Amino acid sequence: LFITAEGPEGAGKTTVLNKLGTALKQKGYKIVMTREPGGINIAEQIRTILLNKENTEMDYRTEALLYAAARRQHLVEKVIPALNDGAIVLCDRFIDSSLVYQGYARGLGIEEVYSINRFATQDLMPNLTIFFDVDVEVGLKRISDNQGREVNRLDLETMDFHTKVREGFKLLLDKFPERIYEVDAGQSLDKVYSAVKSKIEDLINN
Ligand code: C5P
Ligand code: MG
Repeated sequence: LFITAEGPEGAGKTTVLNKLGTALKQKGYKIVMTREPGGINIAEQIRTILLNKENTEMDYRTEALLYAAARRQHLVEKVIPALNDGAIVLCDRFIDSSLVYQGYARGLGIEEVYSINRFATQDLMPNLTIFFDVDVEVGLKRISDNQGREVNRLDLETMDFHTKVREGFKLLLDKFPERIYEVDAGQSLDKVYSAVKSKIEDLINN
């Protein structure tokens, strides 16, 4: 099973996935935890380029292609082998982030970004995607309160940009209703965690 977590900044994806991965491993499931962009060496190197605050001259199509390239390598090197091995793969961000950030918020077009990503993924899609929906201001506040978080080029973006990101994810809910499951990530971490956990346990047990 391939499960991805998506949503705007500060939605709690990483925290909830880490907690869930630990719990599922303790129950004896074979779990592979990973993230995008990154997860393997080449893709982590691409991540460094993508998120470097100095790289403000980066063209949006270049950005979209680098995300797709990192995704390709990560799938081939890590995700597909793990799935073939019978593992449950929990991935922090995947294709929907590209559709939303580059396709919708940057304005390249969801369909155009989808098409370069289909080249990269050869149409491998997640079995389930959890969309962590949170109010933009609440999310950004959580990020600024989180001292340990790595500095990131997206920190320079405007409220308008982040609002578009949230809107973009809502559009994807209509585009992929059977795959994407929305969770109210504005609730307490415990509540978000239990909502995500029960959805994923349903999937595992069916
Ligand atoms: O918090 P996280 O590790 O997911 O950080 C990745 C960063 O890359 C976020 O700021 C996210 O907004 C950004 N990103 C992006 N386009 C993507 C995927 C991630 O701008 N396709
Ligand atoms: Mg995160």
